[in-house]
Amino acid sequence: MIETKIKLNQSQMKRDFDYLHANAETAFNEVKTTEYLAGELDNMGITYERFDHMTGLIATLGSGHPVIGMRADIDALKQHYQGKTGVFHSCGHDAHMTIVLAVARYFQENPQELSGTLKLIFQPAEETVTGAEKVIKSGKLGKLDYLYGLHVCPESEVADHQAEPIILDAATRTLWVTIKGRTAHAGKPQLGANVIDAFSEINQQLRQISLDTAEPYSVTATMFHAGESSNIVPDNGTFALDYRTRTNELMAVLQEKIFAILKGVEKDGIQITIDGNDFSPAAIPSEKAIANMKTAIVNVLGQSGLVEPVVTPGGDDFHFYAYDKAAKNSTMLGLGCGLKPGLHIPAMTFNHDAILAGARMMIDAVRVTK
Ligand SMILES: [Zn+2]
Repeated sequence: MIETKIKLNQSQMKRDFDYLHANAETAFNEVKTTEYLAGELDNMGITYERFDHMTGLIATLGSGHPVIGMRADIDALKQHYQGKTGVFHSCGHDAHMTIVLAVARYFQENPQELSGTLKLIFQPAEETVTGAEKVIKSGKLGKLDYLYGLHVCPESEVADHQAEPIILDAATRTLWVTIKGRTAHAGKPQLGANVIDAFSEINQQLRQISLDTAEPYSVTATMFHAGESSNIVPDNGTFALDYRTRTNELMAVLQEKIFAILKGVEKDGIQITIDGNDFSPAAIPSEKAIANMKTAIVNVLGQSGLVEPVVTPGGDDFHFYAYDKAAKNSTMLGLGCGLKPGLHIPAMTFNHDAILAGARMMIDAVRVTK
């Protein structure tokens, strides 16, 4: 272990966490959160740039190459809990921000330990899977040689005092679809085009999709609405599909099959329109970034702290940075922290000492990136 003591300002980190935790805000509404982050960066004397019409900011330290990015997601979730509706950091983004602020503080005080440029991205709207692409499109980020991110992991995936050097998120896509048909009297169905029949045919074919892979994948119809009267052939319906694959390549193959099925039922008065399409790419593994993260994990937690990545069906818009070629090499630290009962549950708790270990690993990942 070369790391041993990365000195952190623990009382400041506790203040950061407590404020951010108590002031949770939803996607693109992270106004107080952004103000707090800007204020802390001002206190540190670190320059940053805000986005033109959106919350969040990018802070920059150092200069030259490599250009190393680090992302913290800053939004929270609106949820119902204990009889009240509120906004909660039930996905742990308060911990992510606290860690990345600690990284900023560390390299501001120890600039000789940073090779190149460090860009800290405080990104809005991860939960709606839309923030990352807006950051990229803002043109304020530029090209990164490396990008590191992190997420707290449920105890069921990664145990406390352990970490994985990549989070193997799946590619996930949701389609919102409208089916139009032709109405008729229920007693004369041959005169109509029944959207329920069309949806049944689609769903049956979706369930027969078979991809040539050993990797897990799924195609699931998650919503279907049609019909208003029990004696009329329905001519209007909507449905949603959720589909997931391990890789972006497989997602392209699966998507083509789904589109062919939708096209195939467009006959005899049935019309299909795709109304919406949400996508989040799968993790794109980078050997170099993973090697750096492994080194950081072992330096901070010891060899026993490094665990093999777990396959998850979850998604994160972090992977857009690599998918859209804004970052050459990227990976996310999966931080074990005794998190129970799970993410997106307002009663979620975790061991706050893991915030210190997480900050040390993210700092060390930057130190070993040359
Ligand atoms: Zn999250």
